[in-house]
Amino acid sequence: MTSTFPQATITGYPRIGARREQKKALESYWAGRIDAAEFAQAVHTLRIDTYHRLHTLGLTEDYAIPASYSHYDHVLDTALTVGLIPSATTGTDLDEYFALARGTAERSPLEMTKWFDTNYHFLVPELEDSTTFKAHPQHLLSLVSEARTAGHLVRPVLVGPITLLTLAKTAPGTTTSPLDRLEELTAVYLDIISILAAAGVEWVQFDEPALVTDVPGFTDEQLAEAARRTYAALSGASTHPKIFVTAPYGSLRSGLSALATSGIDALGVDISAATRTIDPGYLDRVADEVPESTHLVAGIIDGRNVWAADLDESLDVLTGLGRESLSVSTSTSLLHVPYTVANESALPVDVASWLSFAEEKVTEVEALSAALSSGPDSRTEAFNRSDRARRTRAESARVHSAEMTARTAALTGDDGFRTDYATRQEAQSALEIPSLPTTTIGSFPQTAEVRKARADHRAGRLDATAYDTAMKAEIDRVVTLQEDLGLDVIVHGEPERNDMVQYFAENLDGFATTDNGWVQSYGSRCTRPPILFGDVSRPAPITVGWSTYTAERTERLVKGMLTGPVTILAWSFVRDDVPLSESADQIALALADEVADLEAAGIGIIQVDEPALRELLPLREADRQAYLDWSVRSFRLVNARVAPTTQIHTHLCYSEFGEIIEAINALDADVTSIEAARSRMEVLDDIADFDFVRGIGPGVYDIHSPRVPSVPELTELIEAALKHVPAERLWINPDCGLKTRGYAEVRASLANLVAARNTLLTAQSVPA
Ligand code: GLN
Ligand code: ZN
Repeated sequence: MTSTFPQATITGYPRIGARREQKKALESYWAGRIDAAEFAQAVHTLRIDTYHRLHTLGLTEDYAIPASYSHYDHVLDTALTVGLIPSATTGTDLDEYFALARGTAERSPLEMTKWFDTNYHFLVPELEDSTTFKAHPQHLLSLVSEARTAGHLVRPVLVGPITLLTLAKTAPGTTTSPLDRLEELTAVYLDIISILAAAGVEWVQFDEPALVTDVPGFTDEQLAEAARRTYAALSGASTHPKIFVTAPYGSLRSGLSALATSGIDALGVDISAATRTIDPGYLDRVADEVPESTHLVAGIIDGRNVWAADLDESLDVLTGLGRESLSVSTSTSLLHVPYTVANESALPVDVASWLSFAEEKVTEVEALSAALSSGPDSRTEAFNRSDRARRTRAESARVHSAEMTARTAALTGDDGFRTDYATRQEAQSALEIPSLPTTTIGSFPQTAEVRKARADHRAGRLDATAYDTAMKAEIDRVVTLQEDLGLDVIVHGEPERNDMVQYFAENLDGFATTDNGWVQSYGSRCTRPPILFGDVSRPAPITVGWSTYTAERTERLVKGMLTGPVTILAWSFVRDDVPLSESADQIALALADEVADLEAAGIGIIQVDEPALRELLPLREADRQAYLDWSVRSFRLVNARVAPTTQIHTHLCYSEFGEIIEAINALDADVTSIEAARSRMEVLDDIADFDFVRGIGPGVYDIHSPRVPSVPELTELIEAALKHVPAERLWINPDCGLKTRGYAEVRASLANLVAARNTLLTAQSVPA
């Protein structure tokens, strides 16, 4: 029986595969190109290869490797494991699992939202009064046994009961709130751990990130007390594996001593440099409040940034804790970073030498653990790399631009305010926008030809002229389609953009982009976040050519399309050497130049997307206002200099907007489109409660699913919107961009959207 916790570990690992093997397997299965058995084989191979690789990188001790694999989402997996699923399903077979995640022609998928302040999206479990929790441990058991057959003792990982209930929503008509059912759910976790113990599992991991956040309706003490009770119950079970609880993404307050003294065997804390900066007292509290009898798993290697760690400083922090029972780990799962810097050949060499992705971070964990156990003389090559990275980065001329620093320093408190809305509204009547205007969020489906043209251009197989011709042909098609469908405000479709953030990063100085730096966004959807390493500037106009070309092709109104500074930051790996607000101002100034150029070129409507505004919101209430102040100001800075006649749109998606509704209002955009369909228009309640006076387009078409919404369904959603928003301020649009969808669905869905709008106009429930 292994009694001790491994000296070196990580709390989670990417699951998509270094070459996105999982994405390929998933998409082949969904498209019917492989069957369930072939899919199972592909992901089995991926998991076993991953365990071997982690072993090679130094995670050699028993239970050092977490079994953090998921077909789609780990929150869905835990929800299914404990029976927290809609009454109509069992979720046990593969197709039902994917039906919950992606929806089918008959039913909508589960709602999806951001996982804490990261760019990962989880599926929101839905609780009904009739939900009876029940243990379904098959998935966990099969992960454990396949690993054992391959020679690895892995640690099953579950979302902890408190976090699971905190993240769950209640289905309409439910009378209890999720956390009311904690005791009942704990009983099922007890069943699961006893089954794991019977299967010979010696360590199990529960992730409780909710404990580092403020949960509405609960004080920190109440939540901590719930944690203490829950984990005392689990640790008090007659047979159970040893229990390891993690609290990633920030610092625990009351939860720290509550967990540490609950009887659990090991506690994982996030003591990354980032968390220590936000909460400078955390390290001392950890040292004081975690008794030696509870094994401390120090999450010192940052699981979310891409920078090589300062290993000397980290080692000092660890030795400063002055304890015997100590392991080295990552602050969070490594799910949020790409596989390895070794797969990057196009990065500038100095930038590459400053980076650590998942594999390099495992090496850092291992190096620290070795140095801790055998003394600082055993400092390995990893320490030398860390040292070189720190020195060359601090001195690099690539990183610091005196001109940019001067430009942001010259900003005054007033920068960022346009003329008042009434004046703008009056001026914008010249645009002659019809009643209940229809538009889209920007991107149109990215066909195989479009992707190929971009890839060929990138690889030098297609010259600039041929590429330009290909993109313009696509724009022509998209414009014609929109005209045929009868959409009022036309977009160019964004064919030239691989990704809304990467595209701008490629065209701004201060960013590097990777070839293989994929991270999972949700399900099979992966993004390649750019790396912001230095001061930002715009060497040349970026979007102006495409937008003016589009305007020449149509008589209708054309909307220019930019990504806002907060979203560019949220979906990039950011610097750890300057405050985020400084980078935001630099990006905003570069985009303001782009807006000025679009306006000068005659583009009368410009959308600056900020889908990620909510995403960077600090997890603790006390930290939020400062964030909202700088983020909102940087958005306004982008549009501060436009004429009142120019209509500024923004777009937000993915999130619960209620708590940032004031900030959304403070963005001061003339029109805001916002995701709503997937959460059944719940967002409208927030908007109605708040006196939101400008244009708003709550999405009526859920673009996360291939389902084509019917005319009656869309009409109903628009009618629901009209109950909250006066017709003269309501825009009709999808939830988000259409780039991941196919043309057939999009054409049908948009035709229905226009038809639904027209039905309402002719029914004269709305003045035409
Ligand atoms: N304009 C972008 C698009 O349509 C917005 C995408 C987003 O909000 N995520 O694709
Ligand atoms: Zn969106």
